[in-house]
Amino acid sequence: MTTDLFPEAKVRGEARLEEIQALLVAHFGKSAEREVRDPLTQLIYSMLASRTKTEDSEQVLRELRVRFGDWEGLRDAPVGEIERAIEAVTFAEQKALRLKLALVGITARYGSLTLDFLAKYRTEKIRAWLEGFEGVGRQVSAAVVNFSTLRRRALCVDAHHLRVTQRLGLTARADAGVTEERLMRLVPESWTAEMLDEHHALVKRLGQTVCGFELPQCGECPLRGVCATGAKRLKQG
Ligand code: SF4
Repeated sequence: MTTDLFPEAKVRGEARLEEIQALLVAHFGKSAEREVRDPLTQLIYSMLASRTKTEDSEQVLRELRVRFGDWEGLRDAPVGEIERAIEAVTFAEQKALRLKLALVGITARYGSLTLDFLAKYRTEKIRAWLEGFEGVGRQVSAAVVNFSTLRRRALCVDAHHLRVTQRLGLTARADAGVTEERLMRLVPESWTAEMLDEHHALVKRLGQTVCGFELPQCGECPLRGVCATGAKRLKQG
């Protein structure tokens, strides 16, 4: 991704992200290796996963495979049956319909139910293609291109990532798409897709454990020395 930052700002931003990453690795250790899925399976998972606990989304994905056999079986099932099968995730009714429409739409547009053909496209073209389906926004398209076998450079900004980076003062309040764009301007050019995946995983873990939605535990946070919000809260006692 090109940058429109002044060179000094770019250097400062890169150094800050490098420091944050090093502090998170020192605190949590390296993340467990991700199960890298094919793009279609990752899309299904990511469409299920928003605002749902990771373990619940993983369990539902496993159950879908058992219940429907393959993704064509899921595509061809009535929406009501899909909804019942995914009732453990949030907004199951809406997600069931969007999932069905996406799977039917992929088949109609490509001729069969696969996303492997996306590998020959540029990253932004892949993301635009995916975002043509209802329920697929910047967060889901980033997850598909970054976490799956496509392994492209993109930063999946979920609710945890959004909250933590705003508290850090890395980005101003904005939606996931704008936040990703701003953060990617700060990401060192040397960071690979795998490094961006790890950065996402570590920031998410911080958000789940220390920098929670209601009460951030700044005194126990590995980023307290580099965080605008943490500095203010710790000063106030
Ligand atoms: S110092 Fe506090 S606000 Fe900042 S990232 Fe850590 S827990 Fe969140």
